[in-house]
Amino acid sequence: MTLSRRAFLRLGGALIPVPAFAQGASPRVVVVGGGFAGASVARALRHADARIAVTLVEANRTFTACPFSNAVIAGLRELSAQQFTYERVAADGITLASGVATAVDPQGRSVTLADGTRLPYDRLVLAPGIEIRWGALPGYDEAASKEMPHAWHAGEQTLLLRRQLEAMDDGGLVVISAPANPFRCPPGPYERASLIAHYLKTKKPRSKLIVLDAKDTFSKQRLFQSAWAELYPGLLEWVALSKGGNVTSVDPATRTLVTDFGRHQAKVANVIPPQKAGRIAEVAGVADRSGWCPIDPVTFESRLQSGIHVIGDAAIAGAMPKSAFAANSQAKTCAAAVARLLTGGTPASPKLINTCYSLVAPDYGISVAGVYAPSGGQLADVPGSGGVSPAGAPRAARAAEAVLAEAWFRTITAEAFG
Ligand SMILES: Cc1cc2nc3c(=O)[nH]c(=O)nc-3n(C[C@H](O)[C@H](O)[C@H](O)COP(=O)(O)OP(=O)(O)OC[C@H]3O[C@@H](n4cnc5c(N)ncnc54)[C@H](O)[C@@H]3O)c2cc1C
Repeated sequence: MTLSRRAFLRLGGALIPVPAFAQGASPRVVVVGGGFAGASVARALRHADARIAVTLVEANRTFTACPFSNAVIAGLRELSAQQFTYERVAADGITLASGVATAVDPQGRSVTLADGTRLPYDRLVLAPGIEIRWGALPGYDEAASKEMPHAWHAGEQTLLLRRQLEAMDDGGLVVISAPANPFRCPPGPYERASLIAHYLKTKKPRSKLIVLDAKDTFSKQRLFQSAWAELYPGLLEWVALSKGGNVTSVDPATRTLVTDFGRHQAKVANVIPPQKAGRIAEVAGVADRSGWCPIDPVTFESRLQSGIHVIGDAAIAGAMPKSAFAANSQAKTCAAAVARLLTGGTPASPKLINTCYSLVAPDYGISVAGVYAPSGGQLADVPGSGGVSPAGAPRAARAAEAVLAEAWFRTITAEAFG
């Protein structure tokens, strides 16, 4: 069935498309991006109503997960433990379209892939994750990332940073630059700093690690800082924005990071640059000037284009952080809303959750949890819900959280790919 043959109702002068179910046809949902958000929404849609024909467009045949990739960098885990195929997703009756989505026609309701394939849809879900803003930090372009890896997409970049650390002599200077908000995984730079510090402490103890930050505060800050004082004194130094931490340019040829206060020439430099929603969001006209995508907090439908929903890191989700857990929670909410909309129903107001574990050492975990609900047109914290691991907890509690972190990873990847 093509859109031109869709039935419309005239209601109060406006033409309203008749829900596909009402016409006896299988409604088509196309999902672009097979990461934590996209794979989860595709499966949740099929589970919500098996009559929905779901097509998942994904650029790669294997997904490489970012959570726990900091452990790969620190030599505590292999990249293969991060990799997942789409066999189980296909087994759920989801049609896989392997390729890059390059164009969206919001009026004609179709997506076009790089090979020219055209996929008509009744509703489109975009879950493209993030893209680096090349050049936003002067000196940091794609070529520079080969010298100063970002490792903010897991895969080759993760291994490059690991190899650079392994090749560094004991006594070298490692520098991480952390971006201003918003960005993928707010605690991620600090977990990475912790695990690199652990690597240096155990393998190259005369080395030093400096974190240059474009912010004065960060996620789970007190927990991280007290753990650093306990585990990595004299090894790990965090420089806040107000103390000259903001990196204003980089020189990849000399691995130098420049701030308003000075220059740091690193042996290994990990530049985590500014980011935006994956390119297809801009192409589809759902990204605003911030580079991210404003959405309705009940349905995740774009505020800029009707019929297109945006979930995961690409979305502006109010108080919700850009995390794999948040992406999964948004996927379930969005799937329920899309299934309702396709039958002409009204989606219920949702509650969403997020839990984020970070490893400060292999046997030292900390976490933050939150509950979110629509309020004032945005997703806001539900007062009195959520919180962080207790300060001053015994080491056994930290070790237990490290085990829970592993369990969390198994669960979240099983929901998407298992
Ligand atoms: C170092 C690090 C550690 C992290 N640790 C945690 C953690 O412990 N817990 C946690 O909850 N989160 C963590 N995160 C965050 C988490 O990885 C992201 O929030 C999550 O991946 C977002 O899911 P997503 O589906 O929006 O994007 P992604 O998972 O990146 O998926 C996007 C997918 O879309 C595909 N795609 C994009 N554009 C197109 C296109 N045009 N056509 C076809 N396919 C396309 C991509 O290939 C990709 O597979 C971490 C992130 C980093 C960088």
